[in-house]
Amino acid sequence: MSEAEAKNVSLRLLLIEDNPDDEALVLRAIRKGGFNIEHVRVDNEKDLIAALKSHDWDIVLSDFQMPEFNGLAALEVVRERNKDIPFIIVSGTIGEDVAVEAMRKGAHDYLMKDNLIRLVPAIRRELNDADERAALRVAQMTLRHQAYHDVLTGLPNRWLLHDRMKQALAYVRNKKTSLAVMFLDLDRFKNLNDTLGHSIGDQLLRAVTKRLQTCIFERDTLARLGGDDFIILLTDLPDKQAIETAGNRLLQAFREPFVLDGKEIYIDASIGIAQYPVNGEEVDTLIKNAEAAMYYAKDQGRNNYQFSSDDIQAATADRFVIENELRRAIRESELRVFYQPQFNLQDGKITGVEALVRWQHPRHGLILPDKFISVAEETGLIIPLGEWVLRHAIKDLQRMKSEACQPKQLAINLSVRQLYHTDTIDMLSEVLADTGIGPDVLELEITESGIMQNPERAVINLKAIQKMGIGIAIDDFGTGYSSLAYLKRFPIDTLKIDRSFVRDIPLDKDDTTIVKTIIAMANALNLRVIAEGVETQAQYNFLSQLKCDKGQGYLFARPMPCEDMIRFFRTGQCA
Ligand code: C2E
Ligand code: CA
Ligand code: CA
Repeated sequence: MSEAEAKNVSLRLLLIEDNPDDEALVLRAIRKGGFNIEHVRVDNEKDLIAALKSHDWDIVLSDFQMPEFNGLAALEVVRERNKDIPFIIVSGTIGEDVAVEAMRKGAHDYLMKDNLIRLVPAIRRELNDADERAALRVAQMTLRHQAYHDVLTGLPNRWLLHDRMKQALAYVRNKKTSLAVMFLDLDRFKNLNDTLGHSIGDQLLRAVTKRLQTCIFERDTLARLGGDDFIILLTDLPDKQAIETAGNRLLQAFREPFVLDGKEIYIDASIGIAQYPVNGEEVDTLIKNAEAAMYYAKDQGRNNYQFSSDDIQAATADRFVIENELRRAIRESELRVFYQPQFNLQDGKITGVEALVRWQHPRHGLILPDKFISVAEETGLIIPLGEWVLRHAIKDLQRMKSEACQPKQLAINLSVRQLYHTDTIDMLSEVLADTGIGPDVLELEITESGIMQNPERAVINLKAIQKMGIGIAIDDFGTGYSSLAYLKRFPIDTLKIDRSFVRDIPLDKDDTTIVKTIIAMANALNLRVIAEGVETQAQYNFLSQLKCDKGQGYLFARPMPCEDMIRFFRTGQCA
């Protein structure tokens, strides 16, 4: 027995037939096949349409010749309503040519009333095929959805955004109105992802999505391009002020912390805005220019929005060029390390050198790190670059030592990305092993703001570094809002007072107070203090009076190549 026979499967049958006797005949045949039938009989177009509207049908059986109707017309009515219902013609007489035409128009089968033995198998087969077609449709729809949506957040992805933007552009072009594309990027998300783990990162992206959705109107599109990059497409915006309002609303959404796994996470966003038609008329140009403005917003100190402009567009073009060229520079050894000596302010002797990277560009000449370190940070190139500087500087230090002089200390800048990178500790111990340099010779300079990004995590890595015997200095100190309470928890050896506080001493009262306080604090915590950016004798005198341990700056020497440093040592004084 087949499944239908065993279970008495129910069948919703729409019968197009004028003759009640034939109706009875057909129903009997089907019931015999094991179906429970729920059916309606119609014999004209009007009733057929009504029946199609009022119910879902499993199958349509249609007579061919009827006084008010015929099978082909019925077929057309069904198909026009886009109904993919199996349609079988059951007729007293049907010629081969008519049958072929019916099949071509979308009938699934035809059979003769005097040969109803074929009816039940045909119904079963058609139901089965219809099930398969439906499953296929669902699969196709799912595929289509996946192809156009981001799996993590369910938002439209890059492709769907592209489609929607194209439509929106066609619309505004026609109406001669404007639209705005906002490129939103979470500040320091990559760092957070590295430090807290990808599962928290994913949760955060979903939580951010939810918040952003509450900030936009239904007609607008929120899409995720990938990573922590979101696009908000604002249509129908009359003026700049409306866009600013939208921008403020989006930034406002990040005021409150996100609570994930019971932890409060504060994260900001930077937004770049490009408008049609002033900043571009095509999808790609608009997105590219919005992205450029977003980078500019980040440079302006994050947590803000910026409108695209010609200057910004030119600057980003530079940025992409820099990224590609920097890869080449690392490969083809265009990087150089310069050294700037650090002095004991009490006896005036050199205590060590700070390694500062430069880029000897084949066309542009010597490029300073401010132009490329941030790109290296963003792209992760800082990891190989940082290791290269360290190894290179240690080699140079050994060259300096072989001459008359012995700089005691080598200061190396460790970027935020390196601080939180899991392999950094291993890299450091490998370098120590490979070069045989004593760990106490090294001092890693880490910016205060970098440590404050994730103090809990930083303290773990800093302790591991300290355990190896490597010294730790906090660079740019005074700019990162750390508190004394925090400082005590960190395994720090040296505070490096930021250049901006040194610049205006001893004249500026505020700066003088700040510098005094930092030195007093360092003494209380048993930390060494070094002042950077010492340019004048007055600054020098003031600092040494306050018992600042060390100083570094143009007053003593500018950063210089290894050869010059060796010469400098010959003439200068060494500790
Ligand atoms: P930084 O660590 O604060 O380095 C001190 C910067 O101040 C250097 O700029 C140095 O040339 C400059 N400087 C020294 N004395 C004076 C002075 O008396 N007056 C003034 N106005 N400036 C002075 P530089 O070499 O351009 O480096 C800029 C920044 O780039 C560094 O700031 C550091 O954050 C970063 N950097 C340099 N080399 C590396 C590196 O190898 N790795 C990493 N991660 N960052 C690096
Ligand atoms: Ca430094
Ligand atoms: Ca500094």
